[in-house]
Amino acid sequence: MSASYDPDNIFAKILRGEIPSHRVYEDEHTVAFMDVMPQSTGHALVVPKAASRNLLDADPAVLAQILPVVQKVAIAAKAAFKSDGVLIIQYNEPAAGQTVFHLHFHVVPRFEGQPMRKHTGTMENPEVLTANAEALRQALRGR
Ligand code: AMP
Repeated sequence: MSASYDPDNIFAKILRGEIPSHRVYEDEHTVAFMDVMPQSTGHALVVPKAASRNLLDADPAVLAQILPVVQKVAIAAKAAFKSDGVLIIQYNEPAAGQTVFHLHFHVVPRFEGQPMRKHTGTMENPEVLTANAEALRQALRGR
């Protein structure tokens, strides 16, 4: 039997406003916020409001709504953090590295010659997250 969706996962709680996040973007279907254990400067997560565990059980209509937002956040992140590239990551199930079971896309700015930090490695200083969230918000507003 495949695993089911747990409505008390941490991203569902963030979406319901039960726990805080550094939110940078919201529309009718989608929210984006900073990853608290960033793999590089400006690492953000793009999350649909609709419940699904990951890509495998997602409604294709939700996937159609979220990818333009992933693109928007990636372009804004590249500008905000002056990155050389942007990596998009999306894990499905623990064997593939998934640790939070509500669909999300990682937007990871990449810098030439700078190795990426470990996945779910170290908690970022909240002041750094606040500053990076503001930089990303400003770049998103400028689009
Ligand atoms: P994964 O499910 O493996 O794709 O990754 C979940 C991501 O969520 C990791 O990169 C974590 O650093 C990040 N994360 C976990 N808890 C929070 C939280 N409360 N706010 C923001 N990011 C989080």
